[in-house]
Amino acid sequence: MEKINRLILENKAWAQGKTEIDPQYFANMANDQNPDYLWIGCADSRVPPSEITNTDPGEMFVHRNIANLVVHTDMNLLSVLSYAVEHLKVRHIIVCGHYNCGGVKAAMSPKSLGMLNNWVRNIKDIYSVHKKDLDLIKSPVDQVNRLVELNVLEQIRNLAHTSIIQKAWLDLKQPYIHGMIYDLTTGILKNLETIGPEYKVDEAHRYEF
Ligand SMILES: [Zn+2]
Repeated sequence: MEKINRLILENKAWAQGKTEIDPQYFANMANDQNPDYLWIGCADSRVPPSEITNTDPGEMFVHRNIANLVVHTDMNLLSVLSYAVEHLKVRHIIVCGHYNCGGVKAAMSPKSLGMLNNWVRNIKDIYSVHKKDLDLIKSPVDQVNRLVELNVLEQIRNLAHTSIIQKAWLDLKQPYIHGMIYDLTTGILKNLETIGPEYKVDEAHRYEF
């Protein structure tokens, strides 16, 4: 119980700290949210989105899963995406992977992980496509980290292939989608690629409205 009590006490101190600076902080916050960003990140405990970007409550809408995947049958992610893009009208979506990701490492291993196999399978497919190139990289750590990057690049394309994003690009000329990588060893976030309304979706994935 001690560990749980710590969270309750820390929360109380945090809330007091906020109201000492601004007595209306929570009253204003409770009215509405108007975030500029949707963050799709890994569930890894070492990559807390608000902390590493120094954003305040209300600034970022967040979805997290193992290895920051955008799976086109994931109703949880699609609901978050729809709400963020169509209702909150976020201007930016960040798909953030991180080096040394356990989900990516699992996808590169032949070891069966039970139910998790089915989730990690999405990364295995990317691994399979790029395996020849990845095998040319000598260090196993660098191999994992390159697949972390390839995974993020794949996920931003998976977003571009949703009707939600294509409709928003047509009607709102937003959002911009950024594929980023967080380096656990330095705390630094880097942008790999940004795509936006001018992105040419391949014919097979293109919707007509
Ligand atoms: Zn991870």
